Amino acid sequence: MNTVMNPSATDHQSLWQRAVQVMPGGVNSPVRAFGSVGGTPRFMSQGEGAYLQDQEGRRYLDFMNSWGPLILGHAHPEVVQAVQQSAALGTSFGASCEVELQLAEAVTRLSPVADMVRFVSSGTEATMSALRLARAATGRDAFLKFDGCYHGHGDSFLVKAGSGLATFGTSSSAGVPEAVAGLTGVLPLADETSLKTWFQANGERTAAVFVEGIPANCGLLPQARSWWQCLTELCRQAGCLLIVDEVITGFRLSEGGFCQRENIEADLVTYGKVIGGGLPVGAYGGRRDLMEQVAPTGSVYQAGTLSGNPVAMSAGLATLQAMQATDVETGRNGWQQLEHLGSHWQSLLEPLLKREKDAGRPLTLVREGSLFWLCFETENAPKAFHEIPAEGAQRYAQFFHALCERGVMFAPSAYEVGFLSTAMTEADLEFAANALGEALEISR
Ligand SMILES: *Cc1c(COP(=O)(O)O)cnc(C)c1O
Repeated sequence: MNTVMNPSATDHQSLWQRAVQVMPGGVNSPVRAFGSVGGTPRFMSQGEGAYLQDQEGRRYLDFMNSWGPLILGHAHPEVVQAVQQSAALGTSFGASCEVELQLAEAVTRLSPVADMVRFVSSGTEATMSALRLARAATGRDAFLKFDGCYHGHGDSFLVKAGSGLATFGTSSSAGVPEAVAGLTGVLPLADETSLKTWFQANGERTAAVFVEGIPANCGLLPQARSWWQCLTELCRQAGCLLIVDEVITGFRLSEGGFCQRENIEADLVTYGKVIGGGLPVGAYGGRRDLMEQVAPTGSVYQAGTLSGNPVAMSAGLATLQAMQATDVETGRNGWQQLEHLGSHWQSLLEPLLKREKDAGRPLTLVREGSLFWLCFETENAPKAFHEIPAEGAQRYAQFFHALCERGVMFAPSAYEVGFLSTAMTEADLEFAANALGEALEISR
């Protein structure tokens, strides 16, 4: 890595002391504060390819990749060039520009769900707007989500399950009125019986069901084909919209995301993360008749000062183009390369998992393409939030710090997934597997 040492480099501890004075908990997004692993967060100064470098000059092979957006790794030359060229021409016009049209054409071509798309600036905005649209289109107020799925921090989504099945939820954050939370239904994943019970009681007043393509915000909890069929069928019968939140899976799992890979007929879809290539972009899209209900063609108001700004759109477009390109040496495009790396990663980890199991410290690997998750204290992949062993978090904290010391960066929480990027090499993964083997030895 081309190291730029900062001559006035300050250590993490003193930066952190300053940070907590001026930002709540020292951060701008809560999990970054190391609350569940302990210790002082490390301040990052630069990223290049598969590696991230901190303020004190330490390098890490990065499996966080900014929580998902950086599918090409850090500072990919084509993305950097697109951003530089675009920024030099002006960072925002507050008017139409060709690159937003180009990205919209690319998204509607690749997505099996989106006939039309509206760009916003975060995944949170995308889900909030899609919910508003669903409520307007159906004339219904209630909606359903699943325990363990995350859809951003909109009021309606910060809701946890109430007591008993087929009930509405209660807010999981202070500041969310119960009147709002009471319109959100919450069910466990992987449970067809509770789905049927819910729809029997509430189907007719339900505007939409929100679900992550592959739930990836509370471990990685891929759902069975039969569950998806049951859900899709119940939505159809009740006349409620199926909204697949592809903020993580979109343009990552495959070119057309989860809905394409699994042939899911959703009404609306939300995107974020990869679609902005590291800049703040979100999007929602769907059937033409639904999307035409959004202002200015329709009566569902939604707007954004920086929505579709040329710099962010250029980064997203350059990312998609780089993913689509076939590598001359390997003959693989970005998604094929990620699957290749993913299966290599899995084959490196499997012997370690076996060793841990034999030593009486079981853990499980769940992998879907370039997404993976290690679930501690069980040999069986959980399918729902309540099946995840809570005691795993303690061991994870030790494991996380041991990995950090060995130059491998995982997310600072047992419930977050890991992301592979196309910048990683097989040798990188072998280095990481070694570090992981040692970290597992240490954390007991
Ligand atoms: C990250 C995420 C969001 C929220 O996106 P932000 O850009 O952080 O607002 C919504 N849904 C899913 C599935 C996510 O992973």
